[in-house]
Amino acid sequence: RANAEKFEFQAEVSRLMDIIINSLYSNKDIFLRELISNASDALDKIRFLALTDKEVLGEGDDAKLEIQIKLDKENKILSIRDRGIGMTKEDLVKNLGTIAKSGTSAFVEKMQTSGDLNLIGQFGVGFYSVYLVADYVEVISKHNDDIQYVWESKADGAFAISEDQWNEPLGRGTEIRLHLRDEAQEYLDEYKLKELVKKYSEFINFPIHLWASKEVDEEVPADEDDSSDDEEFIVHMNPISCSSLTVKYTLMRTAESKSSEEEDEEDSEKDEDDKKPKTKTVKKTTYEWELLNDVKAVWLRNPKEVTDEEYTKFYHSLAKDFGDEKPMSWSHFNAEGDVEFKAVLYVPPKAPQDLYESYYNSNKSNLKLYVRRVFISDEFDELLPKYLSFLKGIVDSDTLPLNVSREMLQQHSSLKTIKKKLIRKALDMIRKLAEEDPDESNDKDKKDIEESSDSNEKKGQYAKFWNEFGKSIKLGIIEDATNRNRLAKLLRFETSKSDGKLTSLDQYISRMKSGQKDIFYITGSSKEQLEKSPFLERLTKKNYEVIFFTDPVDEYLMQYLMDYEDKKFQNVSKEGLKIGKDSKDKELKESFKDLTKWWKGTLASENIDDVKISNRLADSPCVVVTSKYGWSANMERIMQSQTL
Ligand code: ADP
Ligand code: MG
Repeated sequence: RANAEKFEFQAEVSRLMDIIINSLYSNKDIFLRELISNASDALDKIRFLALTDKEVLGEGDDAKLEIQIKLDKENKILSIRDRGIGMTKEDLVKNLGTIAKSGTSAFVEKMQTSGDLNLIGQFGVGFYSVYLVADYVEVISKHNDDIQYVWESKADGAFAISEDQWNEPLGRGTEIRLHLRDEAQEYLDEYKLKELVKKYSEFINFPIHLWASKEVDEEVPADEDDSSDDEEFIVHMNPISCSSLTVKYTLMRTAESKSSEEEDEEDSEKDEDDKKPKTKTVKKTTYEWELLNDVKAVWLRNPKEVTDEEYTKFYHSLAKDFGDEKPMSWSHFNAEGDVEFKAVLYVPPKAPQDLYESYYNSNKSNLKLYVRRVFISDEFDELLPKYLSFLKGIVDSDTLPLNVSREMLQQHSSLKTIKKKLIRKALDMIRKLAEEDPDESNDKDKKDIEESSDSNEKKGQYAKFWNEFGKSIKLGIIEDATNRNRLAKLLRFETSKSDGKLTSLDQYISRMKSGQKDIFYITGSSKEQLEKSPFLERLTKKNYEVIFFTDPVDEYLMQYLMDYEDKKFQNVSKEGLKIGKDSKDKELKESFKDLTKWWKGTLASENIDDVKISNRLADSPCVVVTSKYGWSANMERIMQSQTL
């Protein structure tokens, strides 16, 4: 194109495109989902702007917030169009090629090992999936602040942008035109597209229309000379010129020949001969916009009427997580009272790899905030505390104001109430995961649960949750004083008696020996190491149970978790351990008085506070104990490894 300005893709983007083009990945369908998701994002953006400025929407068709899909079989073009925010020239340059997002190299890296292309959307590079099916792509876009441009690329390392002098004006929005590869012709099939939209994009909150053909029977005047009755009728259509939603494009094979004169003739024939058929039925192909998604937003529906499958599919589209796995759990509720909102929360099937890596420097919540059905933001940190940021979901509030800036909204007093309720519901949901898990119950109720039908599916689900997200619960105990006790209930660990299985504080307490006042625990780098610890000798002999804390975060955790259900925690490697009274204690103390005194004097220069006769040992002759408020040996170890 004469007026084209050329650009080179940023190097990482270029590599990404190479990978996509040469990919043997068989599930190429995902491109459609990515394009529809982008269209939906663009529509969300313009709708959000329209809250404070109605003008931005324009009039007539432009104001219709919708997505349109068209097929041009003759030219092998599939196009997806939205009336979203559109892109200025600068947006096109930046968003589609020159600025690599942080996810680009992460995704490239992933794809080089065992990556699943299906996850492309999560890395923020979904657009490039178009090159799974197309060898040439045009992006026509019109933003309110700029004129209409065409972006185009054959994925050969470069792209071009030109002022659009060829296409019909879009009004506002974006049309992505895919020139399909020979082996991707299946995407010109209406049925295939309907199926895909149903499968992947059912929960998009804007209408998706397909310019679909329809065979209808039509009565037309009989014409005996017409020998082309059985001829197949092929429709040639230009998708660009049919872009208005309101046009009902009808092609009738007889339309051209049927003049008003003939109609007159028809009438006169009728008068002459009533037995002769004057009309006949022919197949007519018409085209019209067919709505492909008419499902009401899941969160607005009655939870009783939403199936598990629908919740699962909604999760996939919400989280852009299109793996095969079901979310571990969900909670759909309606909060009433001063602050009204509807919400669906999910525990994902897996924790993202970087969940804790980015914990302290990212604030990103994974909840989508809507106000009265209008998408506001998915970057609202105020909805959930950091430690619950692994949850996904949506919140739609009727109480929050619509026509204020994001910043004002962020400070709205209702958010505090919403957050409080969300935390409560989230913790309930997690507690239920444990309650419904047959592996978690005490032996006495085990029988009943095992007989129920879905218990097999629920078996081991809490251990799975704990494995993925246990650390978040621990961080919660550290950070959230208000819910500390609720969170402590969710805590799981191994103990000196748990035989490799996870156990809870409640279970520990139910097994405490009579007269045992404190909850005993020990920290270290592994269970194997702790099992051999001399600190345990006497306790084990006396049949006390000791909790093993082996995660570095546990040391911090235990600085915040002082007690549980009126029981204090006692680190058995620290001063202050009381294991019942021994009648010989006093006697022993007395008879070894001189020895302990001598030892204390000898070790005084080694930072030793005291030397005592102890009842915590069974076989080992002596052990070094930490003072009550000092760092445990394990904490010293952790601190040392951190400074190195
Ligand atoms: P993501 O959607 O995760 O941001 P994509 O690779 O899918 O990543 O899209 C890249 C960017 O291109 C988007 O962030 C958006 O700015 C822009 N974009 C893509 N499609 C459209 C569209 N239909 N309308 C407006 N902008 C779009
Ligand atoms: Mg996208």
